[in-house]
This record gives sequence, C-alpha cells and structure tokens, in this order.
Amino acid sequence: MGVKIKISTAFEENDAILDKWSHVVVATGTSPNIPEFTYESGVRVLTYEDVLKFKFPVQSPVVVIGAGGVACDVAKYILKTPNPLQASSNYLQNNMTDCIASQYTEGAIPSPKVTILQRSSKKLAYKLGRTTRWILIQELTQLGGMFMRGASIESISKCAVKAILIDRKQMSIPAKTIVLATGQNPNLLVTSFLEIKNIPFTVIGSASKSINERGSISSSIKSGYNFALSIN
Ligand SMILES: Cc1cc2nc3c(=O)[nH]c(=O)nc-3n(C[C@H](O)[C@H](O)[C@H](O)COP(=O)(O)OP(=O)(O)OC[C@H]3O[C@@H](n4cnc5c(N)ncnc54)[C@H](O)[C@@H]3O)c2cc1C
Repeated sequence: MGVKIKISTAFEENDAILDKWSHVVVATGTSPNIPEFTYESGVRVLTYEDVLKFKFPVQSPVVVIGAGGVACDVAKYILKTPNPLQASSNYLQNNMTDCIASQYTEGAIPSPKVTILQRSSKKLAYKLGRTTRWILIQELTQLGGMFMRGASIESISKCAVKAILIDRKQMSIPAKTIVLATGQNPNLLVTSFLEIKNIPFTVIGSASKSINERGSISSSIKSGYNFALSIN
C-alpha cells in the first residue's frame, strides 16, 4: 500500500520544521501522571511505566498509589515477578523436602508485599468490566495483595506512607518503594510544533483522551478507523 514505516524514530520539532506534511495524525499515546506529593529525599518513587516497561527493580514492601486497572496490573506484576533469590527459594521449596529446602532458603528474601492505596472510597478498579474486575481482585488477593480505600496521603518517608482514612484515623503503611499509578496524561508535545508551523493535524487514540477518561485498545483502534474513513 506504499506505507513507509520508520521505527525507533521520535517525531520531533525539527520534523515539523521540514514542512512537508499536508496532514499529521498524532497517535502518541499517554505518559504516567505524576501528582504533586512531597516526600523525603531518598524515597524510592517509581511510576507504573518504570516498573512495567523499564523493569526498574522494586524493594518490598511496596505501596501502589492508584485505584484503576493499571494499579492492579502493576501490583500483580510485582507480586508475580520473583527476584532471582525468591525464584531459587521457590524452586527449592517445591522440589525438596521441607527440611532440606530450609537449609538452603534460610535468609532468602521473602515474597514481596504490596498494598494498593486508593484515595476514593469507590470499589477498586470500578471502571473495569464486572467479570474482569472480579478475576483481577481474586488473583491479587490470592497473591497476597492488600487494598486500602478512602486513604488520603499525608506524608511519604523512606520506610512508610502515612495516610488519613475516611474516619480521620491515621494509618502508617510500611513501604520501601512507592509506585504511582495515578492516571495518564496525553502526549501532546508534538501538536505544539505543528501548531507553530500551521500544519493541520488530527489526534487519535489515547492521546485524545483527558486524564479522567479511560483509554482502551478498542477505542484507540476505533478512533483511527473513523479518521481513516473521514479521509476523502
Ligand atoms: C498497564 C496498562 C494496562 C492496560 N491494559 C489494557 C487492557 O487490558 N485493555 C485495554 O483495552 N487497554 C489497556 N490499557 C490501555 C491501552 O494500552 C491504551 O488505551 C492503548 O495502548 C492506547 O493506544 P494508542 O495507540 O492510542 O497509544 P499507545 O499504545 O500508547 O502508543 C503510542 C505510541 O506513540 C509513541 N510516541 C509517543 N511520542 C512519540 C513521538 N514524538 N514520536 C514518535 N512516536 C511517539 C509511543 O512510544 C508509543 O509507541 C492499558 C494501559 C496500561 C498502561
């Protein structure tokens, strides 16, 4: 069909300056939203992207801040991804008698502990379909995940997150790593280059959603399809 594909190439300001585009379709997706928390220096704060895409290691216990499907996904990933020491400890426990296994596994790092902390008092991941949500929560519970609703963060230190609950009680949750799953912002930087150069463009996919709208693979495909149909 004559479509030229260039991979590993970012569309940047200079590309817009080249001025050879009659129309640009912007499908640049989203980046993690980072709320303004104040925290002690040295606190290990990561985004869901750091963990899922860039594979930054986490130190247990972990507090995941957020309440949607992404918070559940990242919690599940952490709970299901043993570090090398846990992996060998799990292997020995499954393949040796208890007595022999304990000789080798003593002192091994225990399985990670994950608490999902959500500000609202709504059901966790309430925007997901009922069945998907049910399966996800069952799975997280079986993996030892913990959940806390209606918790407003008061402070974050190197070893704990302090939160105020709806009944005004203060709670301290042990945490060596904080993972932010607090929504996504559309990646719209390229549109500013295009605006300056007066190049017409259309934003499709999750880049066209606001922070409170949930993007999905199907809605992104649909918006691309609808745009394609609109071309004469
Ligand atoms: C953890 C997680 C789990 C999810 N699970 C589901 C799920 O189960 N079901 C579901 O339907 N949806 C899910 N989603 C949402 C879904 O991934 C998005 O809605 C969908 O990927 C959006 O597609 P998109 O093509 O608009 O953007 P993206 O898939 O984000 O693609 C945007 C692309 O543009 C590239 N890009 C950005 N800037 C530039 C630039 N300047 N130049 C060139 N390239 C650029 C990016 O590198 C990226 O490859 C999940 C999201 C997350 C974060």
